[in-house]
Amino acid sequence: MAESGTGADAYRGHCRPIGERTLAFIDRVQGLRIGGAWDQQAKNGATFESIDPATGRVLGRIAAATVEDVDVAVTAAAAALESPEWRDISPARRAQYLFDLADAVDEHLETLAELESLDMGKPIVQARDDIGGVSLTFRYYGGWPTKIEGDINPVRSPFFGMTLRQPIGVCAAITPWNFPVVMAAHKIGPALAAGNTVVMKPAEISSYTTLYLADLAREVGLPDGVLNVVTGAGRVVGEALLSHELVRKVSFTGSSPVGKRILEVASPQMKKVSVELGGKTANIVFPDADLRKAAAGSADAIWENAGQVCIAPTRLFVHESIEQEMLQLLAEETAKLTLGDPLDEATTLGPLVSEKQLDTVRSYVDIAREEGGEIAVGGEAVGTEGFYMQPTIVAGVDNDMRVAREEIFGPVLSVITFRDEEEALRLANTSEYDLAAAIWTRDLSRAHRLTQRLRGGLVWVNTVGKLDPGISFGGHHLSGNSRELGRESVLEYTKSKSVLIDPS
Ligand code: NAP
Ligand code: MG
Repeated sequence: MAESGTGADAYRGHCRPIGERTLAFIDRVQGLRIGGAWDQQAKNGATFESIDPATGRVLGRIAAATVEDVDVAVTAAAAALESPEWRDISPARRAQYLFDLADAVDEHLETLAELESLDMGKPIVQARDDIGGVSLTFRYYGGWPTKIEGDINPVRSPFFGMTLRQPIGVCAAITPWNFPVVMAAHKIGPALAAGNTVVMKPAEISSYTTLYLADLAREVGLPDGVLNVVTGAGRVVGEALLSHELVRKVSFTGSSPVGKRILEVASPQMKKVSVELGGKTANIVFPDADLRKAAAGSADAIWENAGQVCIAPTRLFVHESIEQEMLQLLAEETAKLTLGDPLDEATTLGPLVSEKQLDTVRSYVDIAREEGGEIAVGGEAVGTEGFYMQPTIVAGVDNDMRVAREEIFGPVLSVITFRDEEEALRLANTSEYDLAAAIWTRDLSRAHRLTQRLRGGLVWVNTVGKLDPGISFGGHHLSGNSRELGRESVLEYTKSKSVLIDPS
């Protein structure tokens, strides 16, 4: 009999019926997904646990890859790069794989959503939105293989010059736990569109959906070795992957300190390294804005995924004349949240992903108090089972306080006042992070002035926290050096080659 992952039995009696496909998945010890050796255990048989953040209980077990397993995966990806089934197919065929994968994701939406929800505590309604976004993302990238064009370059006679856009090679993709399958799609989509092959390493905390996605890719016939998934700890599996000599590109999304480490390990080998890191999004509300819309949009974006979102608008700048009104509106929006079991259809605020994350968030609330912030809403952990935290609004924050400077990664909003546009701009731009910013105003001139001058790889006007596959996002400075989504992301997975011909 196969070793059991847990106890899916513990979930069979759940108040909300969980799909059999989901239960079967968590019931099995999940193996590595390597071309030619699918769903196999690590060479040394080691596994690690997936924990359900809603209860703190073990959900299932997953293979912990060894350095040797990583080598097998990268070798498979390198072989696939040269295989006629991948290298020689038409761009339209490559596109079709991505469209087929999008269809498969749609068909398996509920299973993927349940797995994401169980594995990392995301409310099921938000997980469904994520999976819908994943299928949209694959459809978007499916449009690209047939449109990646090179250039004809004007050069002196008698030469003929052109520039080709070619795949880079084996891409290593390392993702964080907060949007596991979304981040996987952000990397797999452009990598495959451009003709590369991929070895992915999801975060240990939430590896399930990436493994499931790989199974879907296999089901739609993606050739062996084009997409591989190795699971296990970043320090071991991640570093083995990004330092492997056959890996040509590294795409990492995660925290800024780990991003720094990624650059240290991968850069000496001259790999192309993209890092998407943390953020401290400034969200500025002017008195002329539609305040109800601003409060509702801001609350949605800050409480989504319990605030564990890189672009979450954690710093809310409000003009001093509307501070009380905005605090009141935000408190009303926050009161609409339903905290509870992530699998419950009514839940809009689930647990934090781990006990460690809960401890971090609580310590920041203590720091906020010590630094003179006023806890206007929430501030406490909830219950004894699972890792729940109240949505917390800290008023009277100064932009120099630690809660306004450091990434907390939880449901904590800092509210800061400003006197005029220049001050708002200066405060918003004062951050080591440089990922995104938002402004709420009905004044078109002001909107244009500020979108030019606000720092960040993405600026929203009268909305916040929204992404679309058609427009790229990404950070500068401590928030990273790359772009995901949009045309720029596709180019990041190509290398250019110039060709100079003497036709005489
Ligand atoms: P993290 O701790 O930096 O981990 C990210 C990934 O890197 C995980 O898969 C982790 O594996 C792996 N890793 C850790 N140490 C490594 C090493 N030495 N070598 C190679 N890989 C290593 O981040 P997280 O806590 O999962 O995610 C939260 C962070 O991600 C936040 O800072 C957030 O802002 C950021 N984020 C940024 C974006 C963006 O687009 N800018 C999007 C989402 C999230 P293990 O955890 O399994 O060890
Ligand atoms: Mg988990």
